[in-house]
Amino acid sequence: MRRFFLFLPWLMLVGVSLAQAGAVTDSPKLKIIASHYPLAYFAERIGGNRVVVNQPSPPGEDPAFWKPNAKAVGDMQKADLILLNGADYEKWLPRVSLSKFKLADTSATFRNEFIRIENAVTHSHGPGGMHSHEGTAFTTWLDFGQAGKQADATAQAMIRKRPELKTLFLENLKTLQADLAGLDAELKAIAALKPGLALFASHPVYQYLARRYGLNLKSVHWEPNEMPGKEEWEELQKSLAAHPARWMIWEDRPDPEIADKLQSLGLKSLVFSPCANRPESGDFLEVMKENLENLRSAMH
Ligand SMILES: [Zn+2]
Repeated sequence: MRRFFLFLPWLMLVGVSLAQAGAVTDSPKLKIIASHYPLAYFAERIGGNRVVVNQPSPPGEDPAFWKPNAKAVGDMQKADLILLNGADYEKWLPRVSLSKFKLADTSATFRNEFIRIENAVTHSHGPGGMHSHEGTAFTTWLDFGQAGKQADATAQAMIRKRPELKTLFLENLKTLQADLAGLDAELKAIAALKPGLALFASHPVYQYLARRYGLNLKSVHWEPNEMPGKEEWEELQKSLAAHPARWMIWEDRPDPEIADKLQSLGLKSLVFSPCANRPESGDFLEVMKENLENLRSAMH
């Protein structure tokens, strides 16, 4: 009994010094929710094991057309930080009540450069129902210069929540931005192999990619697993006369029947995945490198 009391002051001292050291190493992991995978990847690269990152939309669903259910809203209310793409990506945002102190709009610094889409058609795509791309083009991260700015905004928002980890976050941001700058330089070099080469895109999601890298891209509104109707094929053939492309860029590998039919019109297919969802294997950087190699094959 006596011994116990003797030890008490020591225990208290040890406790105090642990708490001080813990300010850097043991602060609770930052709970982050990212509205699409590229932002989740950025937060994971910047935060390492100091963060827990969740992307709430289910794997098979395009996060751009996802709506949070009650559980997802509850999770967001419990999170420390919610990373938003901005550029009208989060159509659900106005209907959900969240503290503005935990929201970070990662594209706000370049909102003057957003691309507006006029006269977009509404299409039905399988179980997802009708959707349109009218409004602001939102695939901002396929311009790797913009992606670098979104990574920076991600880091700044994380630092606001954990100022004691600023040095670590900034170091990790630097290596991430170096990787993004590498993609940017390489894609510029690939695009320069055949400047102005006519290309088709299967879906209107490559506006920023085309602008940044000077691609001569014309878009239809097709899905990789839905055979387009007779009218859509006729439209394409008409467009081909004015825009004699040899390649169509897809978000995902198209069904063989679609690829074969395109081939008969002289159009080959290549995949440039926006990677809005966590890939089954690899990560954002690996998927983007694969995209670049796929695009390179069109430039020969
Ligand atoms: Zn669409």
